[in-house]
Amino acid sequence: MKIIKTQVGIIGAGPAGLTLAHWLKQQGISSVIIELRSREYVEGRVRAGLLEQNTVDIINQLGLGGRMQKEGIVHDGVYLSFDQERVHVPFAELTGGRQITIYGQQEVVKDLTDDWLEAGEQLYFEAGAHKITDFDTDSPKIHFTDEGEEGIIECDFVAACDGFHGIGRKTMPQDSYRSYDITYPFGWLGILAHVAPSTDELIYAYHENGFALHSLRSEKVSRLYLQVNDGDHIDNWSDDRIWEELSLRLGTEGWSLESGPIFDKSITPMRSHMIDNLRAGRLFLAGDAAHIVPPTGGKGLNLAVADVKHLVDGFVGYYKNNSTEFLENYTELALRRIWRAQDFSNFMTTLLHKQDEHGSFTYKLQKAKFNYLKMSKAYKTTIAENYVGLPFESYEF
Ligand SMILES: Cc1cc2nc3c(=O)[nH]c(=O)nc-3n(C[C@H](O)[C@H](O)[C@H](O)COP(=O)(O)OP(=O)(O)OC[C@H]3O[C@@H](n4cnc5c(N)ncnc54)[C@H](O)[C@@H]3O)c2cc1C
Repeated sequence: MKIIKTQVGIIGAGPAGLTLAHWLKQQGISSVIIELRSREYVEGRVRAGLLEQNTVDIINQLGLGGRMQKEGIVHDGVYLSFDQERVHVPFAELTGGRQITIYGQQEVVKDLTDDWLEAGEQLYFEAGAHKITDFDTDSPKIHFTDEGEEGIIECDFVAACDGFHGIGRKTMPQDSYRSYDITYPFGWLGILAHVAPSTDELIYAYHENGFALHSLRSEKVSRLYLQVNDGDHIDNWSDDRIWEELSLRLGTEGWSLESGPIFDKSITPMRSHMIDNLRAGRLFLAGDAAHIVPPTGGKGLNLAVADVKHLVDGFVGYYKNNSTEFLENYTELALRRIWRAQDFSNFMTTLLHKQDEHGSFTYKLQKAKFNYLKMSKAYKTTIAENYVGLPFESYEF
């Protein structure tokens, strides 16, 4: 039996777990991470790619932003398109210079993992946690299996950063939270293609055939998405059909989409999910373990990193200032931002996806919102400040 002792035991080496570990280390607090999957799997997992200003600032202040600064692509605005008419939302201009950076989640994960391991810190891959015990005492334990050998992490606190399918949320007493869910009747077909982006900034589009998004990963790799019906299968979508549909849905007069070889394609369901309690005794949840947002607002990864900020405040208060105030307030502080992100993600999803027949009452409401966007600086500002992410101080009320 392997016994590991540390101050904070972290389950999951995704953005939440890795950011937490680095930030605690910077504050002189020890932690150990265990991760269910292999390093190759985690570093190859294609997911988010949009970093809010807050996330970029946190990665930089941890001294981990070197490659992101070189390879990340900074955007000052975004295009929203409806029925092939396009509006620009200049968020830097509307938010006092706040920006987003396009840099793949797997690159963030690689940077944080490399640095952690090079510094000789402990991270066990293919080591799945199967039980969390004693979290209602001062000595919680994480039970895990590593290469067939049983192990226990004995710690002061457990941070379950283990994503939607992890054991953290399942361990929370069921009567300690309320759960909220929306399953949307559509999903996103996402592709990665070896082709230069046909746009300088992201384009989100409503079209009578459904939603489309032109995003990117680098100057040579584009990331694009199409709304597809729930239950649709990737085999129904040849590369030619994908490009044809993207071209149609994203199209506007005088603009055309460049196509190129597709090297990754998959369909992801869309859901909103959350629970309204992130703590049970000495067990704390962060990131997708506690909440899922539809990707339309680009909030998933950023929300995970924001939870970590509040958790670090809590642990620093406990270890350095002998105070449990921030740990006790963790759920409340994190929930303010989580609900804001849930609302914005739902807003972007319902504004830009085909939800009902083209021309229906729902469609007319969507179009009315878009027309308002065209005429109102205030409405554009609302979208801009949510899109780039509100500063942490905004939630101190
Ligand atoms: C297919 C897909 C596409 C996405 N696209 C976008 C997007 O375009 N934009 C956006 O903003 N967000 C997107 N997201 C959401 C974003 O990727 C997540 O919000 C983000 O990964 C959350 O980080 P996390 O660290 O909380 O969780 P995760 O990244 O899920 O990390 C959790 C980690 O815990 C590990 N784990 C699970 N169980 C155990 C266990 N028992 N023991 C040990 N380890 C365990 C997992 O293997 C995983 O590595 C997408 C998500 C998915 C699934």
